Amino acid sequence: MTLIQIDEYDTPAGKSLAETIKASIRTPDSLGLDRCIQCGACTASCPAARFTAYNPRLLVKRVLENDRGVLEDETLWNCFYCYTCQLRCPRNNSPAKLVQVLRQLALNEGIGLENMEHFLGLGEFFAAHGISQVPEHYLGKMAEALGSSWVEFKRDLPAIRAELGLGSLDIRDERKEIRSILEGTGHFERAESLRARLKESGASEGIEENKFLNAIPGKNKSEDINLEKNGRYSGPEALIV
Ligand code: SF4
Ligand code: SF4
Repeated sequence: MTLIQIDEYDTPAGKSLAETIKASIRTPDSLGLDRCIQCGACTASCPAARFTAYNPRLLVKRVLENDRGVLEDETLWNCFYCYTCQLRCPRNNSPAKLVQVLRQLALNEGIGLENMEHFLGLGEFFAAHGISQVPEHYLGKMAEALGSSWVEFKRDLPAIRAELGLGSLDIRDERKEIRSILEGTGHFERAESLRARLKESGASEGIEENKFLNAIPGKNKSEDINLEKNGRYSGPEALIV
């Protein structure tokens, strides 16, 4: 299989990590990377930094020092794109954006491929079900982490929304907009390429779809707490251009 070089057009290589990041299509011209004053506001407000060794302030420092070892730092994969750092930064920098480009660079060098495994099915899932549902292989893990009150809340949510006069949460992709976007941006080819590289690398652990579902209190079927599934979106139609 021909492997796709995933950064050939959207992230041209610069002379340094900082230059590459600034040239990426993922980062705006206004990015304040060079203006970082190492104040630490990003780290102070980062949920990933609170619970793990990940440190966005340090990440920015290492990028500015062109320390390519940052690509091999496992904590690079702890950010989950909540964008709080971007919101808090007094210099309009965005560690979240940096992380996106750094992960891309790492993957190109074959680093961290195993971290992609849980993400690779997301595009297909969202194309099939819309973005309002939790992908099945996350459900059990979330139930395990958030506890039985979260499961009960998920089960009761449709009734609660109905009582509040709110419509269904399901915004499934009835017009295939999501699939069109993913196809148009080459998502599926990239995912396929990464799958092939993951397989070649031997780093794949494999995802058992219902690996964590036994952790869900009560019944073990994902449908039990994925109750939005059968709803219908009743809001305005999407604008198709
Ligand atoms: S909040 Fe902004 S300026 Fe402060 S350390 Fe983080 S990236 Fe740098
Ligand atoms: S986007 Fe990432 S780095 Fe920024 S606050 Fe959220 S988890 Fe932390």
